[in-house]
Parts: sequence; structure tokens; C-alpha cells
Amino acid sequence: MDRLVVASNNAGKLREIAEILSPLEITLVPQSSLGVPEAEEPHDTFVENALAKARHAARISGLPALADDSGICVRALAGEPGVHSARFAGEPRSDERNNRHLIERLAGRDDRSAHYCCVMVLMRHGDDPEPLIADGRWYGEIVDVPRGEGGFGYDPHFLLPALGRTAAELSAGEKHAISHRGQALRRLVEILRADG
Ligand code: IMP
Repeated sequence: MDRLVVASNNAGKLREIAEILSPLEITLVPQSSLGVPEAEEPHDTFVENALAKARHAARISGLPALADDSGICVRALAGEPGVHSARFAGEPRSDERNNRHLIERLAGRDDRSAHYCCVMVLMRHGDDPEPLIADGRWYGEIVDVPRGEGGFGYDPHFLLPALGRTAAELSAGEKHAISHRGQALRRLVEILRADG
């Protein structure tokens, strides 16, 4: 498997996936460059949405496909925005509006616990009955005042208490070493290697 279509149009995700997989000799092709339209994400779970995205990209492109479905789950909001993270503040998708909406929803709440979740799915072809699936979780706290320029999405509001920094204040390498996406991708690569 030397060429993979990546089933995402999110620039932040595409960049991170490419950085994390850069030691491997795999050419990553964003689905948009092959004219693959965005898949529907109608499901209530990350894993079902990741399967739908990977299957869609593999079927249309004829290539093996990698999909990432991820989001931030906030305890005081009963796990929201979760699978709705990309569109938390509605259409059109906007990180800035999502972040503002999150902070408004948390006003007056003491419990700031949250975690990122990422599910990665690799389908070797569009009818693969045995997709490879791996997940990762990254725990932190939501802070009202954004800090840092790195990462994307909710990162400026996602504090790692043990480090005293937000995810946006980490270097790319520091983030990937501990993030939900880094964990999921490393697990996926292990499964792929064991599978031959
Ligand atoms: P998806 O494309 O439906 O999987 O939506 C993922 C959304 O979750 C992104 O648009 C971000 O809002 C959020 N998200 C996922 N991973 C990260 C991350 O590493 N940093 C910040 N936000 C993230």
C-alpha cells in the first residue's frame, strides 16, 4: 500500500496526518484532488462516521482510503459537541464561531473537563469487509481565554493541566506525540504492520 486517499477536506487534519505518517513511505492524496465529494456524516458515533467516509472515498477513488472522524467531548455538556464538533455553531463551518459558542455554553459551569476523541479507519478497497480501526483519546480542560497559534479548531481553548499549556501552544511534534490523532494513527500503523 504505497498510495492512500485521505477522506477529509479539513486542512488542519490533513496537515497533521501527513506530519504523523511522514516517516512511512506512503503517498497521501487528499480526496479533493481526486474530485471525491465530501461524504455524508449522518451517524451518532465517530466510528460509524469514519467508516462511512473511508468507504465513500475508497469506492469513488478506487484507492485504499484513510478517514479520521474526531471531535471534542465536554463533560459539562454531556459529551457535546462530540460528533458535531465541526458544525457546533452551525453552517458555514468556522473554528472561531465554534470556539465562541463553546465558551458561551460553558459560562458559569465549574466542570471544565473535556477530551478529544479520534477514530481512524483504513479501508483497503470500497468493499473491504475487514477495515482497520484505531482510536485515541486526549484529556484536558476548556479555558475561556484562547492561547497559542498552533494546531487548529478548539486547540487554543484546550488546556493540558500537566503541561500548563494549551494544545495550540505545543509544537506540532509535541502535539502529535500525545494527541488523540497521534495515538490513533500509531495504533493503526501497528495493526497494519501486524497484518503484513
Ligand atoms: P470531522 O471532520 O467531522 O471529524 O470534525 C472534526 C472537528 O473536531 C474539527 O473540525 C474540529 O472542530 C474538532 N477537532 C478534531 N480534532 C481536533 C484537534 O486536534 N484540534 C482541534 N479541534 C479538533
